[in-house]
Amino acid sequence: MPHRISFFAALFLATPIPLRAGEPHHEVVKDWPSLPEGHVLGLCAGVGVDSHNHVFVFHRRERVWSTPFPSEPIAGATVSVIDAKSGKLIASWGAGQFIMPHGLTIDREDNVWLTDVGLHQVFKFTHDGKLLLTLGERAKPGDDRSHFNLPTDVAVLADGSFYVSDGYKNTRVVKFAADGRYEFEWGGKGDAPGQFNLPHGIAVDSHGRVIACDRTNSRLQVFDARGKFLTQWKAPHIGRPYGVAVGADNHVFSVDGGDPSAEPAERGKVVELDAEGRVLDTFGAPGKGPGQFQLGHDIAVGPDGAVYVAEASGKRVQKFVRKP
Ligand SMILES: [Zn+2]
Repeated sequence: MPHRISFFAALFLATPIPLRAGEPHHEVVKDWPSLPEGHVLGLCAGVGVDSHNHVFVFHRRERVWSTPFPSEPIAGATVSVIDAKSGKLIASWGAGQFIMPHGLTIDREDNVWLTDVGLHQVFKFTHDGKLLLTLGERAKPGDDRSHFNLPTDVAVLADGSFYVSDGYKNTRVVKFAADGRYEFEWGGKGDAPGQFNLPHGIAVDSHGRVIACDRTNSRLQVFDARGKFLTQWKAPHIGRPYGVAVGADNHVFSVDGGDPSAEPAERGKVVELDAEGRVLDTFGAPGKGPGQFQLGHDIAVGPDGAVYVAEASGKRVQKFVRKP
């Protein structure tokens, strides 16, 4: 398959081109969403969009990060489902189930994958909140084949098999078959190719390449479906990737959450890259205003190309569209 070989060879040779001067190509949709009074989002940890253009947000309501984690689940609903067009709330679920919500991923069958860093577990739900699959042991961290330690995110291939980025404590990506059977893993702590220092988000593109946010190493790493390192994208415009999503034409959208120890956080933007890591657009800035971010934590792309950013400190989700 010479075509495929040359494609991957091209990835090795790709060097990011410098940022173009000029206006961002995306703009915020003001006054989106329009949630009912009293429907208050907490820290927005995860965001995803299904095939019906419904936006799912995984949030923490009133819960704040504290260690040891509380043992009581958050009483109220933690998943909010919002219509992309109208911005109206369609549904909410996930009450009494989660300790510390983190990652949210929608697969191509509209299943909803959630990770809970308080429970050290990964869950697969139907789009309306029926539990289908649980991985990991409840509130028991570990680093073997049946445990996670603060797992951050999930990415699902077309065949239903999936990757888990694990996580704040373990520094690995674990691959599972569609039925949840362990397949293999890679990683290790460090900054060499294929190692991680906080794998915080993960996505797959249409070629089955795996793109992982290596947050504290301030880079995106790209692997083949078997976990073989292909390339990395590390540059000032990449910043510290917290969340990553793949849109049409395998464009990669990454949100830079910045360095939490920097005061004020010096970064807060989204970068759009082509499949070879070249910059197509950047938008957003640190701040509280429309189109700005307070700790962007996750990102998603809808079927119509709209981009959604979930903010941790900002406790909101914003919608962006390409300018006409
Ligand atoms: Zn996080």
